[in-house]
Amino acid sequence: MLFEMLFEARPKLFDYYSVMSNDSNASGKMMIRLTASLKVLATAFFTLLFIVEGSNAAPQSVDTIVYGDYVVTMSDDKPYINDGAVAITGTVITAVGTRKEIDQRYSAKQAISGEGRIVMPGLINGHTHTSMTLFRGMADDLKLMNWLNNYIFPMEARFVNSGFIKAGSELACWEMIRGGTTTFVDMYFYPDTIADVVERCGLRAIIASPSIDFPSPGFKGWDDSFQAAVDFVVRWKGKHERITPAFAPHAPYTVSPEHLSQVAKKANELQVPVSIHIAEAPSELTIIKQRYQTTPVKHVAEQGLMNNRLIAAHMVHPSPEEIQMMAAKPVGAIHNPTSNLKLAAGIAPVPTMLAAGVSVGLGTDGAASNNDLDLWEEMRLSALIHKQQSGDPTVVPAMVALEMATSMGAEAIGLGDVTGRLKAGMRADIIQVSLDSPRLAPLYNVISHLVYMVDSNDVVTSMVSGVLLMNDGKVLSLNGAQVKAAAEAISLDIAKALNESPSAAR
Ligand SMILES: [Zn+2]
Repeated sequence: MLFEMLFEARPKLFDYYSVMSNDSNASGKMMIRLTASLKVLATAFFTLLFIVEGSNAAPQSVDTIVYGDYVVTMSDDKPYINDGAVAITGTVITAVGTRKEIDQRYSAKQAISGEGRIVMPGLINGHTHTSMTLFRGMADDLKLMNWLNNYIFPMEARFVNSGFIKAGSELACWEMIRGGTTTFVDMYFYPDTIADVVERCGLRAIIASPSIDFPSPGFKGWDDSFQAAVDFVVRWKGKHERITPAFAPHAPYTVSPEHLSQVAKKANELQVPVSIHIAEAPSELTIIKQRYQTTPVKHVAEQGLMNNRLIAAHMVHPSPEEIQMMAAKPVGAIHNPTSNLKLAAGIAPVPTMLAAGVSVGLGTDGAASNNDLDLWEEMRLSALIHKQQSGDPTVVPAMVALEMATSMGAEAIGLGDVTGRLKAGMRADIIQVSLDSPRLAPLYNVISHLVYMVDSNDVVTSMVSGVLLMNDGKVLSLNGAQVKAAAEAISLDIAKALNESPSAAR
């Protein structure tokens, strides 16, 4: 603008000198031209003044600024900022930049120091069953069907009720907040109770209401469990910005094709995601082949489940053709390395899925098959096991593991426009990792440290939608001592049942 003004003034100044030299009698005309030229010059001067003043203008007020010696944004335009900061207004990120840029442009009511800290997006747990924290360590080192049929299912039938779900999901949410997870996808009974806990504790969640063809806690079979899921979705859809309701048909071998198709139609009509266990173990492939002469991924696609967002947990055994099919559909594959290793389900073809363009996220699965909800461990395992599996140490490098836990993990569950990156306009779902521990010295490469070194205890700050859930390592939104006491009280009954019948309470 200033240059345009000066450029505009130039010929008029030239006129003035022409008049002075060639037409000394035309003084009146000259004065008019002189006045016009001075006006232009004055305008240019004030424009310059405005620009200079503009750079010193009062900073815009924001709610919070989170600082960090290192800011890992996971955003394509500015993936990594040294000595950076994130400005937040309400639930949303206003700007991300260097400390200097942010301090010049914004002033905050609340500042969170970034000395010795890495700022990054909160982690995304794409598949869990939160309340199974109460079964943590109850039955380890067992074959999948023995574990499921003789321990998990009978214990669920005997103990799962609304009180169990409240205590179990609070225990899980405390652990997730403490460990830097800000978003999770849950699939468990009494989803209204889980939603109440999520609403109070401040996390972001996709809460999928489970339906299965057999009797399950609170239900006789498919019809009532599916109707309850529809009611839950209708009740919560659009009610809370942090809560997305969803459907969760258990798996293609526990839900009939007609029922899968019923879910697909309803999810499409209500525009909500579907979460399902799929292609988890070789036994599932055998069952689907025997019953339907096909493979699990093709089978659910034929029922219409890939027309809408599908959060496909495990995906250990897809065929090459199915991987191509998924890449072209709104499907996210959720990789659960600890659970798959512990139950010897196999190793998912993650490098092949990534190469084909499938969005892959990470999940912990329930704490009964993990036994924690620690995304750092899943990141590290995902970066390690595929190297061994493929014989190629260059596959799933640290940055890709970090993407699966953040930006790609968000895309996989259909929340890529909401969370998983630090970028203006995204929700302020942010964590800080402390580098104070001598265990983390020296530091040459932040991404390497985040994947191969950092663990959940190094996380010191957690924020979701601009609200602090943990500060200086202290969880603010749940009382840890109370949560622990409630879990231990319920565990006494479970332990008693286990003592009465070691192969669970049948
Ligand atoms: Zn699961």
